[in-house]
Amino acid sequence: MSHEYSIAIHGGAGAMSKGKLSPEQEEDIKNVLKGIIEESLKHLSEGQSALDVVQTAVNKLEDCPWFNAGKGAVFNHEGKHELDAAIMCGKTLEAGAVSGIRYSPNPINVARAVMENSPHVYLGGEGAEKFAQDCGLPEVDNQYFSTDMRYQQLQSALSEKGVVLEPTTNDYKYGTVGAVAKDKHGNLAAATSTGGITNKQYGRIGDTPVIGSGTYANNLTCAVSATGHGEHFLRHVVGYNVSARMQFAHLDLISAAEHVVFQDLPSTGGSGGLIAIDKEGNITLPFNTEGMYRGWGSSIQPAQSKIYK
Ligand code: ASP
Repeated sequence: MSHEYSIAIHGGAGAMSKGKLSPEQEEDIKNVLKGIIEESLKHLSEGQSALDVVQTAVNKLEDCPWFNAGKGAVFNHEGKHELDAAIMCGKTLEAGAVSGIRYSPNPINVARAVMENSPHVYLGGEGAEKFAQDCGLPEVDNQYFSTDMRYQQLQSALSEKGVVLEPTTNDYKYGTVGAVAKDKHGNLAAATSTGGITNKQYGRIGDTPVIGSGTYANNLTCAVSATGHGEHFLRHVVGYNVSARMQFAHLDLISAAEHVVFQDLPSTGGSGGLIAIDKEGNITLPFNTEGMYRGWGSSIQPAQSKIYK
């Protein structure tokens, strides 16, 4: 059955062993995710564009300290925060991406501004910050992103490895956020925002802001937002990989996404997951880790959220 509109969000995938979070914390996270889905469904039912809805959903996730994006982003090896984000419109294939953001509280808004107010797709580092300033977007001190939980995670990563950088299956590595949607007008959009990986090297960029890797949308096929060990997601060109399997190999959404998550990524040791929606509004949320913070809903499916399998 076709869904007039649909939305899915994630707050990262990883080895989230049951018992690490208290039942209250789990409930809190699930409620945040479900609340964002309910609000997004309302906006979609009122006719808002998929692009606006994914941006608003990601803003909420960026502002929530539980997730590794915006407030609550992980620390890099220097004890600082460098954030990446991307957004893409499936109707026009317009896209905006930023990396190495240190002072913009909502990097996805900078990515959207790049898409709309610049002739470019991707701005990095100081240029991206300067652009955000020129657009009049808000600025914060880099410490705004810091939380105790992420600081402790950096300390354990440092004591475990000394220096960077091979992410293990430890749960403190991940937590990126993302959203995909199909709107009433039949358009798809995707958005992803992240602090990257705990203890990452200065200047490291993962898959999140790379169009076709961590973020991709095309009305012909699907919208995808990924989360996991970015180096592998880059090498498997995850977002476009799902889309290409649908477009050229004529796989359906679920088969295409599952092929990438359960065959391609594990073939090089890549862990994580993705959320994707096709042009009929079907939703899939596969992951090859113990858990993925996720929520979803549509015109015919009430809002739901889950952490584990
Ligand atoms: N994919 C992100 C990165 O490698 C991390 C994550 O999804 O948690 O930067």
